Amino acid sequence: MTAIAVLGSTNMDLVAYVARAPGRGETVTGREFRTVPGGKGANQAVAAARAGGEVVMIGAVGTDEYGSALRTHLEHAGVDTDLLHTVAGPSGTAHIVVDDEGANSIVVIPGANGSVTALGPGERAAVSAAGLLLLQLELPLTAVTEAARTARDRGVRTILTPSPVRTLPSALLAAVDLLIPDEHEATALTGCAEPHAAAQILLRQVPAVVITLGRKGCLYAARGAEPVLFPAPEVTAVDTTGAGDTFVGTLAVALGEGRPVPEAVAWASSAAALCVQRQGASTSMPHRSEIDAA
Ligand code: ADP
Repeated sequence: MTAIAVLGSTNMDLVAYVARAPGRGETVTGREFRTVPGGKGANQAVAAARAGGEVVMIGAVGTDEYGSALRTHLEHAGVDTDLLHTVAGPSGTAHIVVDDEGANSIVVIPGANGSVTALGPGERAAVSAAGLLLLQLELPLTAVTEAARTARDRGVRTILTPSPVRTLPSALLAAVDLLIPDEHEATALTGCAEPHAAAQILLRQVPAVVITLGRKGCLYAARGAEPVLFPAPEVTAVDTTGAGDTFVGTLAVALGEGRPVPEAVAWASSAAALCVQRQGASTSMPHRSEIDAA
């Protein structure tokens, strides 16, 4: 089995369920509140571990109650947390509003995640020893770029989720093997709303891209090959939080097992479709047996 290293954020998600999300300057009364372990890094780590991957998480939590809860959550999922540091101050938090159509809007406060500005010897060793590296953009770019370049030097395949979206330094992009933006991120990165056209622009910078398209599925494009649209299974979505991270984490497991891309994408789509049918992010991620059964 190929070990998956995840360098990324660990947040506590503070989730408000409402009929309709408030507009600017507006107050609405919600229906329910939950705290759910999250953070794009931790979510991808949990998704990969539940899908059967051997996963090591690199990042930081705070000294608050959330920090220990987040660590325990990762450990329960089977994620190695030896390189998840505890630093003085608050853990990262994400303030999420989920409406009745299952759509979400999110504000992230980095907290302890902001302390991860560089890799230490242990982190570099873990990245070098991994078969695959998963990156997102909720940690300082200096650390993300250093991890990608370390992976590139050692021949470790790197998958980047460009979220929250921002301009990507060429030093980072040059070390990425597979970029997985969602539709909005792909548009923000390319100025192009049409996924096929956006993919072609992204392929000038990275060798392969998967643009996730929500309930429409995803578009896979690689240099020198015809792009392929993979439809998503038709399901009733109740909460799409974590769908993208489930997709990426499970895709990484399948690719790490050497499965061909079409099979890996179909498997990841099944996993993401299971995730959207349940509330929460990391709590709604499916286990391997469920994905195989779907
Ligand atoms: P993100 O959550 O990162 O914005 P998407 O909304 O594109 O990403 O969703 C990621 C993946 O999750 C999609 O490519 C698809 O496989 C799956 N997915 C999302 N929403 C649905 C849905 N309503 N029905 C089925 N699958 C879905």
